[in-house]
Amino acid sequence: MLTKIIHEDNVSRSYELIDTAERIVILTHLSPDGDAIGSSLALYHFLKEVGKNSVVIVPNRFPSFFNWMSGATEIVILEENPKEVQALIADADLLIAVDFNDLKRIDGVKPFVEQSQAKKILIDHHLFPEAFADVTISHPEISSTSELVFRLICRMGFCQQITKDCAEAIYVGMMTDTGNFSYASQSPEIYNIISELLTKGIDKDNIYRLVYNTYSEHRIRLMGYCLLEKMKLYKEQRTAVISLSLEELERFEYQIGDVEGFVNIPLSIEGIDISILVREDAKKVKLSFRSQGDIPVNKMAATYFNGGGHLNAAGGECTLSLAETLEKLEKVIINNNIETV
Ligand code: 5GP
Ligand code: MN
Repeated sequence: MLTKIIHEDNVSRSYELIDTAERIVILTHLSPDGDAIGSSLALYHFLKEVGKNSVVIVPNRFPSFFNWMSGATEIVILEENPKEVQALIADADLLIAVDFNDLKRIDGVKPFVEQSQAKKILIDHHLFPEAFADVTISHPEISSTSELVFRLICRMGFCQQITKDCAEAIYVGMMTDTGNFSYASQSPEIYNIISELLTKGIDKDNIYRLVYNTYSEHRIRLMGYCLLEKMKLYKEQRTAVISLSLEELERFEYQIGDVEGFVNIPLSIEGIDISILVREDAKKVKLSFRSQGDIPVNKMAATYFNGGGHLNAAGGECTLSLAETLEKLEKVIINNNIETV
């Protein structure tokens, strides 16, 4: 039996909104990760099982190592089909937003959501959710939105309706947001849920292989290049920085998802507790922050790089050039006591 962490009122109101809806759209954040795709597809499969049509919309393409997931090919991508996205949202009577706390995180999808008259449910685990939804299910203490989706489905009385496809999607989100259960994974109830998912027929070892062991040769060579040539250590500050320019990414035939996880690697060096990956994009510079222990990298991301996230995993961006961003970052690293950034 799981603790009833989702408020009863939110469970019954979600049930009512889903029960009365006819055209449901599921939305998730820019540069979707495993939890974004996992929680979205889990809802999509659940809704299908209870006789509700829905469609998943994402702002831009997700990494190809999620393509194997059932329903992945039906996801509608704003960057590729803007007119379809606009029409689907305009026509929807219920929007379910997952794995983001701020409409800024859905980028170009935001104006359509703001214009929409549809009811809205937010299911998320980031701090400080924006108040845009009719029902806000926000639990930062839970390590993945996919776990929250599992809990919500069960609390609404539909645990039986979780199919293997749905269970697989939930597992992908739980696995990827905890680094294959290596952080934010201490809660015993995570393993009760996994046990339930296994009884639904998922093959967890195969899911691990499909997500983590199907990378391209380019990605592995780029990883080698990063570690050999591009990793700068600020030992006194217990910090590592890896930066990649557009030219370098192109040299290694960069595809979306190719640098996923790189930011975690320097944390395996003894004495390094903060790791930052800086990646030049066509329009801006994107930063990923990771830390160990109680070092709040989300504060660093929010204070200096217009971002946010969790205590140990955060992101941000910068509109300066790559060189200027690195200069700014160096100042932040050197001038700030890491314990109190
Ligand atoms: P990643 O480094 O994997 O892109 O992101 C790690 C976490 O940081 C995400 O789960 C998300 O919570 C947060 N995050 C990433 N990029 C941004 C951003 O640009 N703005 C905000 N507010 N949060 C971000
Ligand atoms: Mn998440």
